[in-house]
Amino acid sequence: MKWVYTIGRIGGTEVKVHLTFVLFLIWWAVGGYQQAGASGALGAALWLLAVFACILLHEFGHIFMARRFGVRTPDVILLPIGGVARLERIPEEPRQELLIALAGPAVTAGIALILFGIIRLSGNDAGLGDLSPGRPFLSLLMNVNVYLLIFNLIPAFPMDGGRVLRALLASRMGMVRGTRVAATLGQILAAVGGLYAITVGHPLAVLVAFFVFLGASAEAEAVETRAAGYGLQVSQMMVTEFRTIPVYATLADAVDLLLSGEQREFPVVDNNGRIEGILTRDNLIRGLSTLGPGGPVTGAMTQEVPVVAPTLGFQDALERLRSSRLPALPVVDRAGGLIGLLTSDNITDLLLVQRARPDGRAGVRQPG
Ligand SMILES: [Zn+2]
Repeated sequence: MKWVYTIGRIGGTEVKVHLTFVLFLIWWAVGGYQQAGASGALGAALWLLAVFACILLHEFGHIFMARRFGVRTPDVILLPIGGVARLERIPEEPRQELLIALAGPAVTAGIALILFGIIRLSGNDAGLGDLSPGRPFLSLLMNVNVYLLIFNLIPAFPMDGGRVLRALLASRMGMVRGTRVAATLGQILAAVGGLYAITVGHPLAVLVAFFVFLGASAEAEAVETRAAGYGLQVSQMMVTEFRTIPVYATLADAVDLLLSGEQREFPVVDNNGRIEGILTRDNLIRGLSTLGPGGPVTGAMTQEVPVVAPTLGFQDALERLRSSRLPALPVVDRAGGLIGLLTSDNITDLLLVQRARPDGRAGVRQPG
């Protein structure tokens, strides 16, 4: 079943909705129906769509600012908890990240101000901060934007405020330390907020605090990995001592090879040493139960494996490996010859070594 549906495209960025958002909308409309019949359902649905339109505008604030700095923004997805704009990368330049992070809240503030102006010009009371259900539509929408603004500016990942804080810190102490400090501050804030939410008995706020806590460590982890691999390329991070399996081998041969050493994934090669596929340990176990020990490795291996070039950069290689969902990818030179294996185990080891260095950086190919 498909969970995500594209509903449109704005300026080259696809707008997608998650199925849970549609369910949330229906649930919300049913609630309106129970209170005031068909008109109640329609009113509730329009209200929720108006709120999410404001959230979408906020996300497009980030998107258009990111584009100005040459960052690609393939899509934005609407979830019941809000919108998530996907940026292909975070600029290394703190000033650019600062502006991208601030652009969303700036849009939200702008919407609130415009609504405030409309309400005042029509001679009504704006009722700032008042979210009680009886309030007029525009007043409620303005206040939702005010609360969104405050929530977004909480200085913790994954909120915009966390990115603002990181960008400010990073301009003084560098990306890695800036992220580490911002993440720690965010976690302290989440822990304090979570404890407070527990004492006042607010389960939803406890949940939000919990996710903020997790978001902080995930962000710090991603930045440290990127920094540790900075400037490295595949030829420096691949395994060069490994065994291959010929295409005509049986699964019994593969078992012997598996048990004879540490290697868990085996490139399957033809007579000219060209890659035909990869036999992972899972492939082997599954093949043994379906084909038996006499079955050919070609019947059990993963075919059409993406290959990587030795000159590919660290970040691209990591993404290629992750998206393949395989534990290892073959490294192939220009002539098509197999020269190495890119494995997640080896990358983990490499990162441990890199982080243990006093300067926390790659010793090879130090970037200028
Ligand atoms: Zn935002």
